[in-house]
Amino acid sequence: MDHFLYRDGNLFAEDVAIADIAAAVGTPFYVYSSATLLRHFKLFDDALDWTDHLVCFAMKSLSNQAVLKLLGDTGAGMDVVSGGEYARARAAGVPGDRIVFSGVGKTKEEMRMALEGGIRQFNVESEPEMKALSDVASSMGVEAPITIRVNPDVDAKTHAKIATGKSENKFGIPISRGREVYAMAAALPGLKVIGIDVHIGSQLTELEPFGLAYEKVAELTEALRADGHEIKRLDLGGGLGIPYEQGNSRPPLPTEYGALIREKVGHLGCEIEIEPGRLVSGNAGLLVSKVIYVKEGEDREFLILDAAMNDLVRPAMYEAHHDIVPVIEAPIGTEYVPYDIVGPVCESGDTFAKGRQMQPLQDGDLVAFRSAGAYGAVMSSEYNSRPLIPEVLVQGDQFAVIRARPTFDEMINRDTIPEWL
Ligand SMILES: *Cc1c(COP(=O)(O)O)cnc(C)c1O
Repeated sequence: MDHFLYRDGNLFAEDVAIADIAAAVGTPFYVYSSATLLRHFKLFDDALDWTDHLVCFAMKSLSNQAVLKLLGDTGAGMDVVSGGEYARARAAGVPGDRIVFSGVGKTKEEMRMALEGGIRQFNVESEPEMKALSDVASSMGVEAPITIRVNPDVDAKTHAKIATGKSENKFGIPISRGREVYAMAAALPGLKVIGIDVHIGSQLTELEPFGLAYEKVAELTEALRADGHEIKRLDLGGGLGIPYEQGNSRPPLPTEYGALIREKVGHLGCEIEIEPGRLVSGNAGLLVSKVIYVKEGEDREFLILDAAMNDLVRPAMYEAHHDIVPVIEAPIGTEYVPYDIVGPVCESGDTFAKGRQMQPLQDGDLVAFRSAGAYGAVMSSEYNSRPLIPEVLVQGDQFAVIRARPTFDEMINRDTIPEWL
């Protein structure tokens, strides 16, 4: 459920009309609902209230400072995957002991930065990374708390580009080598083993793959404990999917997910961490855009928008579907027509939807892409020298620009021309 609903045919974000934001900010822009973000975070938090736990928001899905502060202030932890994300989380006031550091390619500089600034744990993904982290921590005279990310070799049944839990993927160490690698970690001076980490992919729409992975993690926990390791924390990753298409089958709810976790690992007495991104932020955001032209093709009509693949890359990159809805609805009974919905960028990949049934639209009409809060703004670029678009946060009847649209000069002046030219 989200807080983007129609009132008398006008699309609202909480108590603010989208058309009013468009008039104030210009299009295209992203808009997020505070109530939806908080609601989704709380669903996860409540789903784990049977045990000691921390919900770490996967901030790679949406990393604006205002969003991090909103979630951080209610007790969320953060799952970070780079030094930049670590710095962002700290700048938003999230304490180090609520930050977990994930990612296959952490550099020594990033490790040092997190050890100096404070970190809850590193989720280590390989033996060379273990050695590097031990070296950095030892040189600082500290021990780095770690879990080791295991790859359980289960099929997440999601898009190939976001599946991470099969042995062919670059992530984690094969779970079959778990005991051996934990023994190595325990022997390294700069590491303190505290638990196990697993994350099998994103946009999972069934619980079964999670269940298979968590069973394997439970078995490994018992084997490692028998080997003398203290396993007190399980980081069970993120990845629960959202419904991108209205009317399509419903992915599992956080409550069902929490119950599954309890069933599979509850008996181990571990502290539980999860790292949801998309399910917290995805349906909490819209991308709002304006129709520039309605263009007659040979056998179809094109809706040419002022948003493009550089603003929202998911359709081009993952063949992703986004519901696209009018900001002002036509009267009931209006007949729909099919449109190919495209952006102005100079490649055919800049297509958001083909043959999409919409109410008839005209130049200047506003449309909203639903479910654009996750992996939207964070993946945008300035391709075609289109400045990054603004982000807006709504709370009740207030809204604020939380990232302004740069001017052309600001965009251009990030380049420097060498003296010799
Ligand atoms: C991407 C990622 C997540 C979040 O995935 P969602 O599908 O957005 O919930 C969590 N943990 C790790 C390690 C990730 O790489």
